[in-house]
Amino acid sequence: MTQAGIDARVFNENLAGASGQIPFIETWPEIWLTDPADEGRARALLRDYETTPADSGTVFCPKCKEANPANFETCWKCGAVLR
Ligand SMILES: [Zn+2]
Repeated sequence: MTQAGIDARVFNENLAGASGQIPFIETWPEIWLTDPADEGRARALLRDYETTPADSGTVFCPKCKEANPANFETCWKCGAVLR
């Protein structure tokens, strides 16, 4: 994974979907930086990520009227684009 110019490896990424069966803290992706000099910027990015609300409301599908979390881009039920 390379994001924002930072070369890093993400481990446990595939386990994130298993949250709920395993204590959440154990499924949090580990990020290993290949260049220690990136640490400050990487931490800043993680802070941004962690403080971005994952669920800030509900959006109703324009097609099937199903309620979707506001951070969804497509309807979980019918796949229509939500906005
Ligand atoms: Zn829908």
